[in-house]
Amino acid sequence: MKVIRLAAALTRMEIETLERSLEGELFYPGEGGYERARAIFNGMIERHPAFVVRCAGPGDAMQAIAFACRHGVPLSIRGGGHAIAGAAVCDDGIVLDMRGLDNAEIDLDRHRVRCGAGMSWGELNNLTLKEGLVTPGVAFSSVGVAGSTMGGGLGPLMGKFGLSCDNLLAAEVVTSDGEIVNASLEEDRELLWAIRGGGGNFGAVT
Ligand SMILES: Cc1cc2nc3c(=O)[nH]c(=O)nc-3n(C[C@H](O)[C@H](O)[C@H](O)COP(=O)(O)OP(=O)(O)OC[C@H]3O[C@@H](n4cnc5c(N)ncnc54)[C@H](O)[C@@H]3O)c2cc1C
Repeated sequence: MKVIRLAAALTRMEIETLERSLEGELFYPGEGGYERARAIFNGMIERHPAFVVRCAGPGDAMQAIAFACRHGVPLSIRGGGHAIAGAAVCDDGIVLDMRGLDNAEIDLDRHRVRCGAGMSWGELNNLTLKEGLVTPGVAFSSVGVAGSTMGGGLGPLMGKFGLSCDNLLAAEVVTSDGEIVNASLEEDRELLWAIRGGGGNFGAVT
């Protein structure tokens, strides 16, 4: 039997309805994906979300955010889990674990990479280095690409290439009102400006 720590007035049926609408998985307390999502780099942080949504695409982020808004429960977004104060994990709410988004496409002609928000710098560099390309990522390989880029991103190559956020050209973002927007120089420039160093949580970057 699954034991669920219910947030606010959530019922099991409501959570199962959300679960059925997801492309990715939903993990309850005690399950492997739950423990893996709530454990973050700072081992002093011990929080227990009601459940974890393992995001497999922007649609899952939309569903989880809409659910949290509808039921008034907290939602935190977990990337690489290195924010030292533990912003990636909440108590009694939903953790949206982005680490299912771990694909990258490299454009060799333009020296660009489009990567899923769940990748770490180590994972991304392993792919780009095979093509003889480096990223202006941070020094610690398990730090999340998305979380650190939104917070700035200081790395060993910053003297030559700038911060990670200086190199961010565009991002797909699921906003709190459930829209998927493309923040880029062509569309939604202000959102791009905000996520280039302004920190996470202007929306869920996928
Ligand atoms: C051991 C260690 C080494 C570090 N080394 C460096 C370094 O060399 N250079 C450097 O610049 N920084 C470094 N940092 C700091 C690190 O870059 C920041 O803590 C960064 O916020 C971590 O991002 P994350 O995705 O790993 O963490 P998380 O805790 O998962 O995320 C950080 C914040 O971003 C939010 N977030 C994450 N993903 C998303 C998303 N997809 N959409 C919206 N919001 C999101 C989270 O909710 C949280 O608020 C280091 C930290 C540690 C603990």
